[in-house]
Amino acid sequence: MSTVLSPAAPAAPDLARSAQQVLHEVFGYGRFRGEQRQIIEHVCAGGDALVLMPTGGGKSLCYQVPAIARHRAGLGVAVVVSPLIALMHDQVGALAELGVAAAFLNSTLDADEARRVERELLAGTLTLLYAAPERILTPRFLAMLESLHERGLLSLFAIDEAHCVSQWGHDFREEYLGLSALHERFPAVPRLALTATADDHTRADIVQRLQLQAARLFVASFDRPNIRYTIVEKDEPRKQLLRFLRDEHEGDAGIVYCQSRKRVEETAAWLAAEGLTALPYHAGLDADVRRRHQDRFLREDGIVMVATIAFGMGIDKPDVRFVAHLDLPKNIESYYQETGRAGRDGLPADAWMAYGLADVVNQRRMIDEGDAGEEFKRLQRAKLDALLALAEAHDCRRVRLLAYFGQSYGSSTGLPGSNAPPRGAATEGSLGARCGNCDSCLNPPATWDATEAARKALSCIYRFRQQGDAGLGPRSFGVVHLIDVLRGKATDKVAQFGHERLSTFGIGADVSEAQWRLVLRQLIALGHVRTEGEFNTLALNESAREVLRGGVPVTLRMPSEARARAKAARVRGGAGKPPPLPLDDPGLLCFAELKRWRAEVARAHNLPAYVVFHDATLAEMARERPASLDALAAIGGVGAKKLEAYGSEILRVLAAAG
Ligand code: ADP
Ligand code: ZN
Repeated sequence: MSTVLSPAAPAAPDLARSAQQVLHEVFGYGRFRGEQRQIIEHVCAGGDALVLMPTGGGKSLCYQVPAIARHRAGLGVAVVVSPLIALMHDQVGALAELGVAAAFLNSTLDADEARRVERELLAGTLTLLYAAPERILTPRFLAMLESLHERGLLSLFAIDEAHCVSQWGHDFREEYLGLSALHERFPAVPRLALTATADDHTRADIVQRLQLQAARLFVASFDRPNIRYTIVEKDEPRKQLLRFLRDEHEGDAGIVYCQSRKRVEETAAWLAAEGLTALPYHAGLDADVRRRHQDRFLREDGIVMVATIAFGMGIDKPDVRFVAHLDLPKNIESYYQETGRAGRDGLPADAWMAYGLADVVNQRRMIDEGDAGEEFKRLQRAKLDALLALAEAHDCRRVRLLAYFGQSYGSSTGLPGSNAPPRGAATEGSLGARCGNCDSCLNPPATWDATEAARKALSCIYRFRQQGDAGLGPRSFGVVHLIDVLRGKATDKVAQFGHERLSTFGIGADVSEAQWRLVLRQLIALGHVRTEGEFNTLALNESAREVLRGGVPVTLRMPSEARARAKAARVRGGAGKPPPLPLDDPGLLCFAELKRWRAEVARAHNLPAYVVFHDATLAEMARERPASLDALAAIGGVGAKKLEAYGSEILRVLAAAG
């Protein structure tokens, strides 16, 4: 284009310095996190980048800082492509609080509002504009971009949730495919694509479909060190959940995931009856109710959202303190994504899951009975198996989780993407490592050699069939009856079928019922035993032969619940558990005062509380007790605009808190 009147591009070192200043002044942060600096400098200097970073890693700053720095240098507006309306609103609201000129264009605006935003856009006064992909690809919008570009006022494209371009992933969006047009029409404008989806396949799709072959790849570590992983055996799931909520998360905000709508309703009602502020959320609820519940979750403190996986995508509330699963997720990718919604602010958070035999049975059945093709089912089964291995593991959960994504624990940040090993491979070396922040590390489970017990169970299932074939009753029975027979219990059913005469009757009396359930769960999880029909009766798979012959050793965790209960007090007493916030008692009181003040401000401004200040920022204030505006400015998260707007009030609250 011959008419480009772009101001002389500022030198890269100037922009890098400016980026540092923006971080400090606008966001109030002292340091870049992980690879933010390299990413931001690369983009400020006009390079393309693909950023893979876990949820909470700080992706937004990677484009917001360059957008502000480049705008200050006279390079115009950054256009952010985002598929999520709720997220656009939040981000624009938060940027406004920071004094940054940002706006969005989406279907929630009426024609007048949209015109106003378009006028600001064309005038070059905006620093960031958020828009949905379908909007960006309209001829009208492209013409506006053209006009900006001709005047040197199109500074950057950021493509958020870039995995939406891949059919392989979970959130494919047709419109994302059209985004390669941006590169074709504006090849000189730097582009930054960002996603929290780690797998190789999705990454390759992004590069190819968005034409990012020349972009620099940044792959952060996918570890979330502040999240504590715990997987307990299901015993009385609701009571276990309640104990977890009461003992560890009184007054905290969090999400409880359930598989079905019915279970969501029941669990929410039950928790509410127990005195918690719990709200249901699932796709079957009225759109109005859903919006209201989501709003309350974002805006109020301490709401427990009980939800199906319909909830969560695009919720970037930073102070979610726990994610609990009452049912097994579909696979490790889902588990990682869902648990990843906890602790975005970097403060300690819990990922807690209760898991039991019925989960395994249900998930297997859902795959078997689904109408997907055989190959897809095989893939789903393999993915489920990997998740079950994580749940049954007696070594470090985090090490296993990262190994699944092809990363080894402790490899710090920034595995160069191209050298990253394929998922699930090459990390055996780190499998002995321990993170110190999962249930297995904090409370190493006792194990027992269950080889003999497994053989007894299999042979009993085999005897049922033999007897059935001889015309003496059904050929197969369910878990409960099997355990009764193994333990030699004289029930009506045993008498009815003459099972006290089986050679396997009573051969397992020395193993507890809970242990037997574990043995069976393991045998089903490993695929040696399957369940059939309406009553989930048990049948042997081919692979059971080898176990029966004694050729496959079976090592199991001891049932954990009793142990966990016994040790809970000790763990809570401080054996490794970080306090919810690193504050002493007066600090906690002061923190509570600050939160009360924040809640008032948030209500008055109609904003979520975390947009005013994050918990981490309030906690640092409560710890450091700054007594002057200068001292307050040194607190992480207090930028120039917020200092001006809230500084004196905060000093007043701090002084009053003593
Ligand atoms: P993501 O989009 O990757 O999930 P966000 O951009 O929402 O993550 O960032 C997560 C949290 O970390 C936000 O609360 C953000 O303000 C904070 N954060 C990001 N970068 C920094 C930094 N350099 N220093 C301190 N806090 C940061
Ligand atoms: Zn661990």
